[in-house]
Amino acid sequence: MAVEKIGVIGAGQMGNGIAHVLALAGYDVVLDDINKEALAKAVGLIEKNMQRQAHKGIIKEEQIKPALARIRTTQTLDDLRDRDLVMEAATEDEVVKKKIFQDLCQRISPKALIATNTSSISVTRLAASTDRPENFIGLHFMNPVPVMQLVEVIRGIATNDTTFQTALEIVKRVGKTAAYAEDFPAFIVNRILLPMINEAVYTLYEGVGNVDAIDTAMRLGANHPMGPLQLADFIGLDTCLSVMQVLYEGLADSKYRPCPLLVKYVEAGWLGRKTGRGFYDYRGEHPVPTR
Ligand code: NAD
Repeated sequence: MAVEKIGVIGAGQMGNGIAHVLALAGYDVVLDDINKEALAKAVGLIEKNMQRQAHKGIIKEEQIKPALARIRTTQTLDDLRDRDLVMEAATEDEVVKKKIFQDLCQRISPKALIATNTSSISVTRLAASTDRPENFIGLHFMNPVPVMQLVEVIRGIATNDTTFQTALEIVKRVGKTAAYAEDFPAFIVNRILLPMINEAVYTLYEGVGNVDAIDTAMRLGANHPMGPLQLADFIGLDTCLSVMQVLYEGLADSKYRPCPLLVKYVEAGWLGRKTGRGFYDYRGEHPVPTR
């Protein structure tokens, strides 16, 4: 199916990155958010990030202006009426997402496709809340979208081949690589990555090592570009906890139980980089381990 006009719902961390790569690939993009400030912030960030890419020689300076001109913003789903496909990248809350789909389906063409960027909610369950489960798919971009090469493509039980092939074409056109994942809790990347991070927090909790020792061990001993606790701070500790809860409940296996220390950090509001403090304190000139 030919897709040229794409709507993106949610202009946060992920939505702005998705709009960025789609516009650079030549798609006509309408970016929707209920929050006016989020839209203004997203447009500013997209321009800044494109300039950074041009500076590094990843894109050409001349690409920026036309790409930005392909992005319009809106606060109403009415402006998504003519879209061939809509990517939902709103807050990770099933109630919020289902309400969006309900409102959206009344407006867009019955042939239009819907993709969700959820990192943990069942694609099949979200699809079932729409009038078009066969035209519904999971397209799980990684953060930060302009930098990360992978997109997990997740078929719900009803997703048809046309929708699947169309999704693969979009991934290819934005210059990324698709990995196909079955619709099970946390898909592939988070299913493997988050238990490792959770285990690093247990290692800290049990006093096997301090923050510095654990991150140094994994950077130099396993050749990871970032230590697991540094990575947890980057992802956001609330997000890490919510993925572990989805694994724990969705797979009913005690090996996924979230570490009590991770819960404690989240309860304290120490959510990582975004709040200035997590396993490291970012409020000074250099990050300082908090344990
Ligand atoms: P975010 O909090 O940065 O942004 C969410 C945006 O959605 C906000 O700007 C909010 O105003 C908007 N929103 C909420 N309700 C809305 C509505 N009814 N209509 C329109 N906009 C609405 O969140 P994020 O990190 O960008 O995550 C978005 C989605 O991407 C989630 O499903 C998340 O699981 C997924 N995801 C996140 C990451 C990550 O590392 N942050 C990675 C992959 C996937």
